[in-house]
Amino acid sequence: MAKIDNYNFAGKKAIVRVDFNVPLDENGNVTDDTRIRGALPTLKKILADGGSLILMSHMGKPKGKVNPKFSLAQIREDVAKALGTDVKFAPDCANADEAVAELKPGEVLLLENLRFYPEEEGKPVGIDKADPAYDAAKKEMKERQKKFAEKLASYADVYVNDAFGTAHRKHASTAVIADYFQPENKMLGYLMEKEVQAVDNILKDIKRPFTAIMGGSKVSTKIGIIENLMDKVDNLILCGGMTYTFAKAQGGKIGMSIVEDDKLDLALDIIKKAKEKGVNLILGTDCVAGDAFKNDCNTMICPANDIPDGWEGLDAGPETREAFAEAIIPSKTILWNGPAGVFEFDNFTAGSRAIAEAIVKATENGAFSLVGGGDSVACVNKFGLADSVSYVSTGGGALLEAIEGKVLPGVAAVKED
Ligand code: AMP
Repeated sequence: MAKIDNYNFAGKKAIVRVDFNVPLDENGNVTDDTRIRGALPTLKKILADGGSLILMSHMGKPKGKVNPKFSLAQIREDVAKALGTDVKFAPDCANADEAVAELKPGEVLLLENLRFYPEEEGKPVGIDKADPAYDAAKKEMKERQKKFAEKLASYADVYVNDAFGTAHRKHASTAVIADYFQPENKMLGYLMEKEVQAVDNILKDIKRPFTAIMGGSKVSTKIGIIENLMDKVDNLILCGGMTYTFAKAQGGKIGMSIVEDDKLDLALDIIKKAKEKGVNLILGTDCVAGDAFKNDCNTMICPANDIPDGWEGLDAGPETREAFAEAIIPSKTILWNGPAGVFEFDNFTAGSRAIAEAIVKATENGAFSLVGGGDSVACVNKFGLADSVSYVSTGGGALLEAIEGKVLPGVAAVKED
């Protein structure tokens, strides 16, 4: 695998998989250009070297069909503005030969949404998995996917993958395309390098104590990560809606709090494993309960395992917040994924805020802190603390899979010969 920093793009056409899946309003205006800005270091390096850029991305879920609602033409001006140069547009990503041929050093061509073709995702369309013909359809689609990837590869001399958000998918543009480039002509972009390094800091290059904070609504969606982290962390804070599944599993009374009744045994198993492995498992002891799932409900502080009927735990209580901060502040490696309460309601942000502020303190004291997974990123942004942690990941599913210890196809594809 080549390294972007050492590569000279002069006179080369570079096809770059970016994640321009940006949110749009109903008029097609970009409402948050974080992802476009995230790709700029890579794109600017290629242009500064004297290379030309072919940008490819998906947007939304058009399910293999052309759909103007998901057209990347809508973001062309935003990309041009961010890059400070004109951006040409190819309205059909699989038929862009002419536009590519005309591309001169320093010029930029944006290809239309890759997912207008089912070949990008490589899943057969319009056929159920239970259908006896499914396997044959899948095989055929995989062949079509290779052809599609080969076509995209034919546009360029070099392939750069800078789309961390889709690195956990084995799609034509994120992985299959890499087969059509020699090892010296395929690489990760700067954003991908940073993401991969951040995950390595958490999983491989651990400075202790290591504290992981997992929150959010459910245990079930986080179990893979919890299990992988159990062998690595010193402190494991489990918070948010999960609190009440643990409280109920241990015989607590949780009122109408969110709970996964089919995960009570799993919760007990996590408690047991933590003990066996010497992990300091920290669960909420008190909570801010509300009498309805809304911001302006009545509230009270009560034990997380003794919530009256008609009330539900919506945030971490003051004693819990203190216990969280006590574990986080002296830590040297910190991972945070998932809020400690219903942070979308302003009256239930205290738990998540306490975590964010403790992480900032630890970071000031030299800890490496990684915040990732949609909602915790939304939290640090809401609190204006995103710049005060070591790294805020751009990847949702990709980050979670990487932390689970899975190899990301988008990373593996450029590393393999
Ligand atoms: P997840 O998608 O599993 O990471 O969960 C994030 C969601 O969990 C956010 O929308 C929070 O509002 C929600 N959440 C956190 N704490 C609670 C709670 N105590 N009760 C209900 N939802 C919660």
